[in-house]
Formats: sequence, C-alpha cells, structure tokens
Amino acid sequence: MTSSPSNNSQKMTSSGVPVGYVQIPVGVAGPLLLDGEEFTVPMATTEGCLVASTNRGCKAIHVSGGAQSVVLKDGMTRAPVVRFSSAARAAELKFFVEDPLNFDSLAVVFNRSSRFARLQRIQCAVAGKNLYMRFTCSTGDAMGMNMVSKGVQNVLDFLQSDFLDMDIIGISGNFCSDKKPAAVNWIEGRGKSVVCEAVIREEVVRKVLKTNVAALVELNMLKNLTGSAMAGALGGFNAHASNIVSAIYLATGQDPAQNVESSHCITMMEAVNNGKDLHVSVTMPSIEVGTVGGGTQLASQSACLNLLGVKGASKDSPGSNSRKLATIVAGSVLAGELSLMSALAAGQLVKSHMKYNRSSRDVSKLACPS
Ligand code: ADP
Repeated sequence: MTSSPSNNSQKMTSSGVPVGYVQIPVGVAGPLLLDGEEFTVPMATTEGCLVASTNRGCKAIHVSGGAQSVVLKDGMTRAPVVRFSSAARAAELKFFVEDPLNFDSLAVVFNRSSRFARLQRIQCAVAGKNLYMRFTCSTGDAMGMNMVSKGVQNVLDFLQSDFLDMDIIGISGNFCSDKKPAAVNWIEGRGKSVVCEAVIREEVVRKVLKTNVAALVELNMLKNLTGSAMAGALGGFNAHASNIVSAIYLATGQDPAQNVESSHCITMMEAVNNGKDLHVSVTMPSIEVGTVGGGTQLASQSACLNLLGVKGASKDSPGSNSRKLATIVAGSVLAGELSLMSALAAGQLVKSHMKYNRSSRDVSKLACPS
C-alpha cells in the first residue's frame, strides 16, 4: 500500500473507505496494429513474461499488415428471478414478456433508467414456479451493470401492477450471468461479442515467432480445440486469453472479477494461401468493458484509457469508445495467443519464464520488462 497505518499492531477497522492502494507494475505492449490504427496497450501484471510475450505477438501482427476486428453484438444483461404459486403462472408471464406486441411498452419503461440504456431483448427460462428473465440492453460507453439493473427494476415495478401474485426473489437470479462461468454467456454473449483475425506471413512465423505454420495449426487443434474439449471446457478454447484480459482490465479500471466470462475465447488457426501463411482468429463473446463509470475514473486507470485514445464518453457516437476498447482487448488476446502458442510449439516456454519471471530485478523499479 502507498499509505499504511501508523501503528501496525493497531487493529484496522473497516468502514468500506479505501485505506491505500496496491501497486501493480504496468508495462506496454505494441504497437498493436488493429483496424488500421496503432495502439500502445497498457497491461498491469506481476508476470514479467506476459508483456514481453504480447509484445512479440503485436510485432508479428504489425509486420504482417495488422489485425481486423468486428463487434458482433453489444448488450449488457441482468436476469431477475421471480416466483409464482404455480408453474402455469410463471409460464404466463414468460409468454407476456416474450410477446413482440409487448416489447415496445416494456422498452419505454426500461429505457427510463438512463439516456444510454436501450432495451434489446428479454429471454426467459422457467424452473418450476420460478421465472428468470434475461434483459439485454445497450449501455453507451458504460460497462452497464448499474444501468441495466435500474432498467430491470423499472420493468419489475411495472409488471407487478398486472401480476400482483409475482414475488420478486432477487434482481439478479444468476441467469445473467455475472462473474461466474456459464454457458449462457458463451452462447448468447454478454457485453461486447468480438471476433478478431489476422493473416501472419510464413516468413514472419519463422523469423519473429520462431516456429512454423504447420506446427502452430497442429498445436492449436490438439491443445485449444481437442484438449479443451477433453477437459470439458466452457469457453476456454484458448491458450491464455485471461492473462491478457486481466492485465488490461487492471490497467484500464475494468471490473477484474468479470475476467471470468470476458476471457471466454475460441482461438482458431488455419494454413492459408496454399498452406504457406497462417490465418489466426480469436472469437470472444462476452467482453465486459466500459470507458465511463466504475474504476475508469481513477487517475492511473484513466491515464491508461487516455493512452489508448478511448477515455470517457464518446461525444459523437455514444458506445464507440467502449466498443473500441473491446476490440483492443480482442486484438491483444490475438497477439498473446500467437506468441504463447509459438513458444509452446518451439518448446521455449520454460526458458522464457526462467528469463523473465525468475529475474532478480525488482520489477517495481522498471518501466517495462526488457
Ligand atoms: P455502469 O452502468 O457501468 O455501472 P455507471 O452507472 O457507474 O456505470 O456509469 C454510467 C454513468 O455515466 C451514467 O450515469 C451515465 O448517464 C453516464 N454517462 C455519461 N456519458 C455516457 C456514455 N457515453 N455512455 C454511458 N454512460 C454515460
């Protein structure tokens, strides 16, 4: 902590007020050439190898002409659970809420929560007498949990007048699903769903990544696809997406607990151009990021967002800053996947960890790992 209690033996009492800061080294990877723009990506991590490795992936992408991304979906979710005295009544509310004829009136009520909240969809699941309603809405540049929760409360109050026997058990019934591994996020998405791709030239794979295309394609198939299937993975069809996601989240003031679903990722690798070059992609259905609200306002985190050019609310097009941040997360994951998979294919993993992670240098005194 940068500040500590004057007397260590004195017991600290907690009132929820911060008592200091925990310092985490920040390094930068890049430039990441993504969608024609260059980004210097801040990463907060105690793992020395991580920044250097992501940096190598960025270099391979850069000299190959850059990566491209698409935001496939953008919607935060919240799913309350309500209970009735019979399953038939729970089903009645499900049909009411899912009826397209009722959507507009529910959206008007929901959207009162914020000028940025726009209801997109309500998806229902019944478990006996209980109904789970998964609300999805756009949230501008905010990650959106507060916004969507307020909108859900508005709709519950509205529904209560027609469904007097509806017992609201909880505004979050875990069908959302926040900060827990859940198939619903992997399949339906939560936050921003992004796909990011690049073609890495054969000579770049050889010279920068020190391996070859066939070895990478085979390793990806046997590790990220087959190995993860054998392990019964849920969204974990990748080498180490969560390493990059967590480091960027800490640096830019995101909620680090959302690393759980934000790291869902399937990494695909394929030989293209007559088997010469490598097509690599990451598909990440639930990247939960914001550039306003929460920890994004803190000084250091705000400086990191500024470095990426996505600080605060976008004036011209609300939501475009947070969507760009999501693409940067995916682009950095692409770089991280390329580099770690190459190290594994070339059998270099242990050697590089010994060099960077067992270093006797005090990383807190370094601006970034060499
Ligand atoms: P979250 O919903 O992610 O928890 P907060 O509620 O803490 O976020 O922050 C969102 C706040 O920022 C809201 O009060 C909202 O009105 C305000 N805001 C200002 N500009 C924007 C924008 N472009 N997008 C989203 N929210 C914005």
